[in-house]
This record gives sequence, structure tokens and C-alpha cells, in this order.
Amino acid sequence: MKHINKSKKLENVCYDIRGPVMEQSAIMESNGENIIKLNIGNPAPFDLFAPDEIIHDVRINLKSAEGYCDSKGIFPARKAIMQHYQNKNVMDISLDDIYIGNGVSELITMSMQALLDFGDEILVPAPDYPLWTASVNLAGGRPVHYICDEEADWYPDIEDIKSKITEKTKGIVIINPNNPTGAVYSKELLEQIAKIAHEHKIVVFADEIYDKITYDGIVSTPMSTLVHDVLCITFNGLSKSHRIAGFRVGWMVLTGNKMSAVDYIEGLNMLSSMRLCSNVPAQYAIQTALGGYQSINDLIKPGGRLLAQRDYLYERLNSIEGISCTKPKGAFYAFPKIDVEKFGIDDDMQFALDFLQSKKVLVVQGTGFNWKKPDHFRIVFLPVLEELKTALDRLEDFLKEYKQK
Ligand code: PLP
Repeated sequence: MKHINKSKKLENVCYDIRGPVMEQSAIMESNGENIIKLNIGNPAPFDLFAPDEIIHDVRINLKSAEGYCDSKGIFPARKAIMQHYQNKNVMDISLDDIYIGNGVSELITMSMQALLDFGDEILVPAPDYPLWTASVNLAGGRPVHYICDEEADWYPDIEDIKSKITEKTKGIVIINPNNPTGAVYSKELLEQIAKIAHEHKIVVFADEIYDKITYDGIVSTPMSTLVHDVLCITFNGLSKSHRIAGFRVGWMVLTGNKMSAVDYIEGLNMLSSMRLCSNVPAQYAIQTALGGYQSINDLIKPGGRLLAQRDYLYERLNSIEGISCTKPKGAFYAFPKIDVEKFGIDDDMQFALDFLQSKKVLVVQGTGFNWKKPDHFRIVFLPVLEELKTALDRLEDFLKEYKQK
């Protein structure tokens, strides 16, 4: 029999958030079991719905959304995005610098495909949101991971970044607020990263999809306000802040020294044209979403649902023997540490599988986020308190008996 193999380009491409553990969970569900799913940052299934005005806008504009639009996106949406950044004091921005995509995901892969030649290096955080590492690999580049330091609130280790820059380094990825750690970086730290990018003339890729989801009064600083001498590409969208992950709507914005990247921008324009345009109905949500009242604020302020869930998860995790966790300052994930000695763990995917099979709770192993040691897992705090409590009761119970080796 002639076997059909996958492309060699996919050899190092990996996206474990939807990997074998999730497949096992799907099998269990198809057998009628109820699984508590703490594996994906998808707000709507947890009754965190989009504001009505957004649904209304998409609905009433459906008729105008039947045809393809400009490959970079519809005018009112791009204008609203431009004004949104201008209001944050990002002035070097025109309509032409804005690309709307089928979620940030499409634009992440596009930005890597247009840039990288075989062997080019991109600095990516460890742990990371794994689409970044996967997209670098898919584009023929080499992801070089810089360490984020758990002891320092999961901040990037500046010396580690510096030590990993080579002649082949083309860019650096910053995920802020961070998935999976929940870290929110200070302006001072971002300034240091901008300085490194300026010195080495590398592109800054700023994934800021969680910038509106921060706790304890912390405000996230846009990287585009700090990077001027090199190209800065900022990624953002409505999947998380406006809870419409299923609509697939995101954007990227080019700022900073665009003259230094004319050829790369030509490549981006070509790839953008090749996919014709992104989903048009969803683009009608953007103008309304970015203007005026931001309903996400009600969820993150004192008394808000997401804040209460963050507080509960953080305290409860730290009360479980063998687990410790840094407090998430943004997004809706925690990345707790497991005492691997105590539980004899040397394979964290097996840990996640064992927990799933024994207690019907789905989490993602830390190595799925390009974290090299088997000593972490990621947990989503979107479920209501009652469900979170059940999940954590089960984790505590599971760990009372657990020994992997
Ligand atoms: N970037 C980060 C850090 C994410 O966590 C996610 C989704 O979880 C994405 C990008 C992709 O988002 P989108 O739904 O816009 O494709």
C-alpha cells in the first residue's frame, strides 16, 4: 500500500493544547462522561458571552458582508483600530498599516511565513503560547526560547535574551499579558526589551490579545509606544476581551521603522492578498467593540467574576500540598508548579492524562507550552466558582494518592 505522509515542513510543528490529552477527553465525552474542561481559553462555553451590541452589529450588517472586501479589511473597522491606537499615543500609524485576519492566529502564521528563510532565528518566550513556536518552525525558521523566570513573577530574563541573539536573529516575540503564566510586564522591562531590539535591529512581535484583561489595577503598556527605530508588529483581537473567539476576528498593526522593512511589508501584503480577505461579517464587530464602554471591565474589577475566579484559583492551588503558583496578573490562566520529586513525575503529559482519566478534569501539560521541564501545567480560570471548586477538590484528592514512578 502506498502511504501518504505529512509534509516534512510539519516535522517540528506541534500544538499540544489540542493534542493527545484532549483527544482522550473527546473519547471519554463520546462515551457519555462529563469532563470539566480547563484546557482552552474560550470564554463563551463558560457563559461569558459577547455584549449584545456586537451581535446586533454583525447581524444588521450581514447583507453588506456578502462579498469579499479589501484584503486588509473593511474601512470602518480599520479606521476604528487606527483611532484605538492613536488614543494610546501611537501616532506612526495609517490605515495601510492595519491587517484584519481570521483571528490573531492567521496573522501570526502569516507574519512568520513572510519573514523567515531557512535557519533564521526568532526569539520566543518559554513558556509560550505554542502557536508562536509552531509558526516559526512551519515557516522554516528556528525558534530560540528565552526563559521567563518564575521566581521573578515570570518576567523574561533579560540576560538570557541578550545571550541568545545571533547574526541569524530576525525578531523577538513578546506575549504581554502572558499566556500561559498570567504575567503582565512593567513598562521598565518592556523598555529594556525595546532597547535590545533597537541595538540588534530585530523586529518586535507584540502579542497583546489579553491587554484589556488585567487585575489589581495594573495597566498593560503597548509595545508600540516604546519601539520606534525598528519595525513593531502588534497583534490583538476580539476573541478574549469581547468573548467572540468563534467569530475569528483579530488584527495586526505595523508601527515603528517601516522604512527599514519595505520588502518584508511587500511580502505581508502579498500573503494578505493571497487569502483574499478575512471573514467579513465578523469585521463589523470591531468598530462597536473598540468604542466607548468596555464590558470586560465589569468582569475584572473588584466584585467582578473573572477577578473572583482568579483569586479563588490562586489561593486554592497554593493550599494544595505539592503545588505552588504565582499569582496571575492578567489573562485567565495560571501555570502552577508541581513538586515532581514528591509525585515521581517525569512525564507531564502522562500526569495530565492520569488526572483526566481518574478525575475527569482536563488541563494542559506545561511542556505543551515549550516549557522544557515536566513540572508545570496550565489551568484556565473561566468556569464559575462552583465548577472551579469541584475541579480543585478533585485535583487535591487525586494528588493525595498520586505517584507516577
Ligand atoms: N495569542 C495568544 C497569546 C493566545 O492565547 C491566543 C488564543 O488563545 C491567540 C493568540 C489566538 O487568538 P485568536 O482567537 O485571535 O486566533
